[in-house]
Amino acid sequence: SLAWRIKAETDLGDIAVYTDESTVEKLSKDFYWYSPVLEVRLREKKADAVFAPQNEGEVEAALAFAFRHRIPVTVRGAGTGNYGQAVPLEGGIVLDVSGLDAIAEIGDGFARVQCGVKLGALEKKAREAGQELRIYPSTFAKATVGGFVSGGSGGVGSIAWGNLWDGNVLSAVVYTMEERPRRLEIEGRELYDYIHNYGTTGIMTEVVIPLAKKTDWTQVVAEFDDFEDALLFGEALARDGGIPKRLVTPIEWPLPSFFKPLEKVLTPGKSVVFAETADGTLPRLAVLAASHRGGIGHVIPPEKYRKTIGLSDFTWNHTTLWALKADPAYTYLQAGFDPDRYLEQLRELKSLFGDELLMHFEWVLAGGRLLPNALPVVRFASEERLYHIIATCRSIGVEIYDPHTWMLDNGGRGAVTGMQLRKKLNDPLGLLNPGKIG
Ligand code: FAD
Repeated sequence: SLAWRIKAETDLGDIAVYTDESTVEKLSKDFYWYSPVLEVRLREKKADAVFAPQNEGEVEAALAFAFRHRIPVTVRGAGTGNYGQAVPLEGGIVLDVSGLDAIAEIGDGFARVQCGVKLGALEKKAREAGQELRIYPSTFAKATVGGFVSGGSGGVGSIAWGNLWDGNVLSAVVYTMEERPRRLEIEGRELYDYIHNYGTTGIMTEVVIPLAKKTDWTQVVAEFDDFEDALLFGEALARDGGIPKRLVTPIEWPLPSFFKPLEKVLTPGKSVVFAETADGTLPRLAVLAASHRGGIGHVIPPEKYRKTIGLSDFTWNHTTLWALKADPAYTYLQAGFDPDRYLEQLRELKSLFGDELLMHFEWVLAGGRLLPNALPVVRFASEERLYHIIATCRSIGVEIYDPHTWMLDNGGRGAVTGMQLRKKLNDPLGLLNPGKIG
């Protein structure tokens, strides 16, 4: 690898190449340590060099160079993924594409951007133009558009618009890994082979995503003595077509006790629902909360949107982050409860595991169905115990999308047959992020 690294420095013209220990180490890691299982297995993995192209031409040249020398390439946006997606398992090159950060166009109902654009920057620009992102992860301040499309799933907004593969990517420019990398323009059904692909079937340099009309959002904490009431309020709010919304997050006490920046505004002992709903909907929310034996607590009015710490900083996988900050023994699961009997499933799990599982749900509208998805926070004892909990969940019909694996086939999105075929065409030597797809 020393020979190709020296060659890279002479062959690649203007492309920035980093081989120093600290840059390579830092850019070889993502948030894999969220999982104590991955933490042990990925801690030693790192690239041999980081290439940081600044435009499409440099991406193409970097890929051609890597193909010529048979070097694995793992792409990186902001490196906020949780499953070690961006950790190079077989060394080689980390291709840091965060420098491709131009917003090419904000049109009526869409944005065309380079892959390295940060979602937070795009949301800001879109809102200035009277529009906003449909969906984004709670890491939107740092995370890139390309990284979200290639490694994420859903987030804030998924209660209205679903996940990435529910029409939330319109088209993409993708480069293949061949002697002469091809520039593909992908749209329609073919996008399924690229969304949530961990950069295994091609490198996305440009993406077109749909935008929604801008809404003035009120952030509301509804409080409940009983977590089941919080969940049922969440469902009622999710189903209420008269209340536009972008977030409906039921969280079981004591998880809110870990949210240090909100300590003064949350009521001890209460389970909560964190919601973002359209300006003017608060009276309707108060009625709904009262009818579920709850009440409205802290409210952040639309004028303060993004001017103070927002409620979404405590939702999605940020909930786990606050728990982890309080006690590193916590980790998490990703679960799909059955919308027709989620309370029954919840009771069964709580009776078996008690506070070993602290419940955190996200109501989402996936594939047109309203679903009680969950990111339960788990007190980690051992890998064996974790997989016992996972097996128990599955045995009662709670689906688990295992976040303790880097494999595409085992985690996140289910069957990846289409992707495997696509990979053979686009990456015949298997150099793109090797080891992530079976
Ligand atoms: P990276 O981590 O850099 O990359 C993700 C994957 O995509 C990697 O496999 C990488 O190789 C590949 N990739 C990156 N760029 C490209 C490209 N241009 N072409 C091809 N492949 C590429 N995820 C959610 O979906 N929803 C959430 O709400 C959410 N909340 C989170 C909260 C916390 C606290 C943390 C730590 C993570 C959370 N995540 C969430 C996971 C992650 O932050 C998001 O998915 C994020 O969008 C990833 O973007 P990134 O730029 O950091 O991608």
